[in-house]
Amino acid sequence: MGLALDLIAALADGRLRVVDLTNTLSPDFPVIVLPEEFGQCAPFRMEQVSRYDADGPAWYWNQITMNEHTGTHFDAPVHWVTGRDLPDNTVDAVPPEHFMAPVVVIDIVAEAAADADFVLTRAFLEDWEARNGPIPPRHWIALRTDWHKRVGTAAYLNLREDGAHSPGPDAGAMEFLVHDRDCFGLAVETVGTDAGQGSTFDPPLPAHAILHGNGRYGLQCLRNLDQLPVRGAVIVAAPLKIQGGSGSPLRVFAIHES
Ligand code: MN
Repeated sequence: MGLALDLIAALADGRLRVVDLTNTLSPDFPVIVLPEEFGQCAPFRMEQVSRYDADGPAWYWNQITMNEHTGTHFDAPVHWVTGRDLPDNTVDAVPPEHFMAPVVVIDIVAEAAADADFVLTRAFLEDWEARNGPIPPRHWIALRTDWHKRVGTAAYLNLREDGAHSPGPDAGAMEFLVHDRDCFGLAVETVGTDAGQGSTFDPPLPAHAILHGNGRYGLQCLRNLDQLPVRGAVIVAAPLKIQGGSGSPLRVFAIHES
């Protein structure tokens, strides 16, 4: 019947499984908190316009507002100063061929549980490759932390007086993933692709700086990475077509063989 219809047939008969990697947008879903001298990320807000009532007798709908980086969301290269002059760096310019890419899942659950400030390094990735085989090019790198299980608790943002505490990569890991492994992007369960303490790293916030400076993407606030195989799954992530937008909330899902 052709590849596109074969895909639908495989979904229908269960040979392929779809995993929703998206957290529900709700007013209480946590957003990143920056130092107070900076502008802040607005949480999701929803205001009812009508619900089969005088304002709309046969229809229900809501006004919604949020930041481009609220909830499960996509980061475009223009989000960071390092990517501001790249071509096609805004969400509306993402080529449609980039809406789908394979994913390698790197499990750092134990390390993140033992140390909320666990730093992913090049040495860790090279050791991972020795056990799991090389990271193929043009793959999303998904960091499985099980951090999504903290959603709804203060331990998700994990804020202390000195800021957030959550795992993330250092510059060496990002240089390795971008330049040596040609990664498509970095996909995480935490509120940012960088570690909670990433502003203290050299350079500051290396995941943002190195990903976006090289035209790569970010996905944040994912869930259910524990349901994916180490390799063989494909992530579907198509950001909203916001004119000149730096990022967007979106529905993200993965497809893999059952
Ligand atoms: Mn973001």
